[in-house]
Amino acid sequence: MKRTQTMNFVDEVSKIPGGEGVKVCMQCGTCTASCPSAKLWEYTPSEIIAMVRANLRDEVLSSSSMWACLSCYSCTVRCPRDVEPTNLFHILESLAVKYGYKPRNTNMPVMYNCFVNSIKKNGRVSEFGIMLGYYMSTNPFTALGMMPVAWKLLSHGRMPISAKRIKGRRDLIKIVGKLNEIRGV
Ligand code: SF4
Ligand code: SF4
Repeated sequence: MKRTQTMNFVDEVSKIPGGEGVKVCMQCGTCTASCPSAKLWEYTPSEIIAMVRANLRDEVLSSSSMWACLSCYSCTVRCPRDVEPTNLFHILESLAVKYGYKPRNTNMPVMYNCFVNSIKKNGRVSEFGIMLGYYMSTNPFTALGMMPVAWKLLSHGRMPISAKRIKGRRDLIKIVGKLNEIRGV
């Protein structure tokens, strides 16, 4: 595995709010054992944390691992060192997007951008808009396989085609911008 030649990665991650715990991980493996999606990770949750601590910046940020996180928070609840792995993995996702890394074997960053764009535009998630953006940015033909499910959702009014905007959307955008400024990601 190629070692990073850039700045100290573990320091960079630990300075971002939510990433401070990375330095106290004791590699007990509880996060990996608790993770319902660990089998899908290129490197397991505890391996990714060990890689951050080893300053393997390129390997971590180009990995698909953290994109398999389901945000169930089991690891965060059970971690004996309060590392808050869930927050850590979302920080790694943000850094990967910020620096333009293309993770292997996953389109999740595309989904991430569609989700964020929907929030910025409407102040809330538009499921139809997200899925439309996702399939148009990846492979539109794969959407054909989802048509039966989409039709059921549409016909039961569970997935409106037109997005509803919240009141105070501009205020929400300001809050998100401020948070990004504080986190630096
Ligand atoms: S559960 Fe916490 S201390 Fe244990 S390996 Fe995972 S992050 Fe590290
Ligand atoms: S929050 Fe993510 S990394 Fe933690 S246990 Fe759940 S899926 Fe796994």
